[in-house]
Amino acid sequence: MRKGLLVVVSGPSGAGKGTICQALLERTSLAYSVSATTRKPRAGEVDGVNYHFLSVEAFEEMIEKDGLLEWAKVYDNYYGTPLKKVEEKLAAGEDILLEIDTQGAMKVREKFPEGVYIFILPPSLAELERRIRGRDTETEEILKKRLDAAIGEIEEGRRYKYVVTNDEVERAVCAIESVLRAERCLVTRNGELFDEIEKGRDDQV
Ligand code: ADP
Ligand code: 5GP
Repeated sequence: MRKGLLVVVSGPSGAGKGTICQALLERTSLAYSVSATTRKPRAGEVDGVNYHFLSVEAFEEMIEKDGLLEWAKVYDNYYGTPLKKVEEKLAAGEDILLEIDTQGAMKVREKFPEGVYIFILPPSLAELERRIRGRDTETEEILKKRLDAAIGEIEEGRRYKYVVTNDEVERAVCAIESVLRAERCLVTRNGELFDEIEKGRDDQV
């Protein structure tokens, strides 16, 4: 059985990761990895859909029980990727999408170097601030923290394989779809195609 693609999307807060991932989930067969977090839900966020919203104690218990593929403290809260779901999906040949921060992504890359690591850039820092303010989900203090962290996060983006600027959502989503199409054609992911042909040749002689 061919293993699924592990797709990791990162970028500074307000770049449009959530918007792009939502569109990808609607248009592709990617399954979303629902992260665990100790952050409080925003208006409209649903437990088990957007995140598994946990207490600090419950999150720390997951860490101790090795239940997370990776975890990191981001903007003063814990965030982490439940391990079991990722393993199950990949083993079943399903593609999975992780929207996680740069620290988490680099930890995942150590375990899954064959994953597809994509960094989302805003068109400019001014537009990043406009978007995160326009979303109107954070207090001024948290908003400042996220904007202050943006430059450092963007530097980390140089470590990724792919970069996509989210100027228009449609263009950004199409670029990611193209990346995924190309990744699925990598020779390293398609050894069985060669095996089958070669087996046919052996059967012929
Ligand atoms: P992130 O998940 O990276 O923090 P969001 O997806 O929540 O970012 O997007 C932040 C805000 O910017 C949202 O209000 C969203 O509707 C808006 N947004 C996202 N992409 C674009 C875009 N290409 N052009 C204009 N606004 C956008
Ligand atoms: P937000 O609070 O805006 O939903 O997310 C804040 C940051 O946490 C974003 O950079 C997001 O990508 C990251 N994040 C979300 N889930 C995870 C996760 O499971 N692990 C890690 N390391 N970061 C995550």
